[in-house]
Amino acid sequence: MESIKELYKIGLGPSSSHTMGPNKAAKIFQKRNPNCKVTAELFGSLALTGRGHLTDVAIKRVFSNQDVEVIFNYDDTFDYHSNAMRFKAYDNGEIVDEWLVFSVGGGDLKEFGEPRGKSAKSIYPHHSMTDILAYIEKENITLAEYVYKHENNDIKDYLTEIFRQMKQSVQDGLNATSVLPGRLQLKRKCNDFLKNYHKTNSFNMLIYANALAVSEQNASGETVVTAPTCGSSGVMPGCLVTYQQVNNTPDEDIIDALAVAGIVGNLAKHNASISGAEVGCQGEIGVACSMASAAIAYLQTKDPELVEYAAEIALEHHLGMTCDPIDGMVQIPCIERNAISAVAAFSSANYAIASGKEHFVTLDSVIKVMKDTGHDLQEKYKETSIGGLALHSK
Ligand code: SF4
Repeated sequence: MESIKELYKIGLGPSSSHTMGPNKAAKIFQKRNPNCKVTAELFGSLALTGRGHLTDVAIKRVFSNQDVEVIFNYDDTFDYHSNAMRFKAYDNGEIVDEWLVFSVGGGDLKEFGEPRGKSAKSIYPHHSMTDILAYIEKENITLAEYVYKHENNDIKDYLTEIFRQMKQSVQDGLNATSVLPGRLQLKRKCNDFLKNYHKTNSFNMLIYANALAVSEQNASGETVVTAPTCGSSGVMPGCLVTYQQVNNTPDEDIIDALAVAGIVGNLAKHNASISGAEVGCQGEIGVACSMASAAIAYLQTKDPELVEYAAEIALEHHLGMTCDPIDGMVQIPCIERNAISAVAAFSSANYAIASGKEHFVTLDSVIKVMKDTGHDLQEKYKETSIGGLALHSK
C-alpha cells in the first residue's frame, strides 16, 4: 500500500475523480505538448457526468493558452475503469502524441493495463487489517505508531496540514452565503444546522453543520481534503472537527486518529476501490464513514480490535450504496449523505465499543464484499446519472 499522503490530498472540488484526476492528467500532457492543439476525449462516467462535475472546465483551465477541444464520447467504454480519458496532440494536423489514462478515484491516475492494486510507491508491507493487527500485537505498538513506523518522518507535519485544511474548510463553508452552482440552485444549509445546535445543544446538529459546511464548499468547487474523495470530503471533518470542539481534544490526538483512519482508507483503496464510477457510493461515502468510525473508536479507546470492528460496521451498512447524482453534480444526494454518514460513523464506533469485541465479519471481508458488490452493480448506479435518483429530480 502507498503512503496515506496519496489518500489525503488538498485540492479543489467537486470531484477527485472527475476534476482533480483529469486536471492532473491534463497538466502532465500539457507539459509534454506545450505548443500543440489538443483534444481530450472523455469516456464512460467522465463523459456522462463530466459536465455536471466540471471535468471539461478542469481540463480547459490547464490548456488556457492552447487550442483545446473536450469531446464527450457517450458510446465507448473501457473494462479497465469507467473513467477513461484519451488525450491527443496535433502538429499541422498530424497526431504527434496520444495518451490513454484513467482517473481511478481520489485524484489518482493509472495507465491502461497498469495493475490496480500494486504500485511502485508502495511503502507498507501489509495488505490486510488481519495482518496489521497481528503485526502490531507482536511489536507491541499502536495503530498510529504502525503508520509512523512506515511513513516518512514528515508524516505528522503532513497530517497537521491536512487537519488544518479540514478546519479551514468547515470555517469557510460556515462563512459562505452563495447559492450552489447548477440548475438546482441549492441554498447552503450548514448555518441552519449550526443555529439549531446553538438552540438545542444537540451533538448531532453540530456534526451535521460541520459536515455540510465542507460538502457545500466541495459542491462549489472550493478547497477540500480528499478523505478518501472530494465527494465524501465532509464526513471526516464532520466527525473530527466536531469531536475536537466538544472534547477540547489536542491536535496531536486528532493527527493520530487521522493516521489510523488512513490505514482503513488505504486498505479499501488497495483491495477494492474508492471510486464511485467503479463500485458506487459505498466506495466513497461508505469508506469515508468507515475511516471516520475507526478514527472515533481510536480516539475513545486506542484499542485496535475495536477500531477494526468500528470500521467494519460502518462499511458493512453502506454495502450496495449507489452513486446516481442528480444532473451529474456532487450535490444531491451527496451533500446530505455526508452529514448523515458522519453521524453514522459515531453510531458505528459507539456500537462497537458498547457491544464488545466479538463479531463475525472482518473489515477485510467487508472490503472484499464491497468490491464484489460494486462490480455487480449495474452501470447506471455508478456515477453515470442515467438511473436511480438522477431520474427523479423535480
Ligand atoms: S453519490 Fe456518492 S459516489 Fe456519487 S458523486 Fe455523490 S458522493 Fe460521490
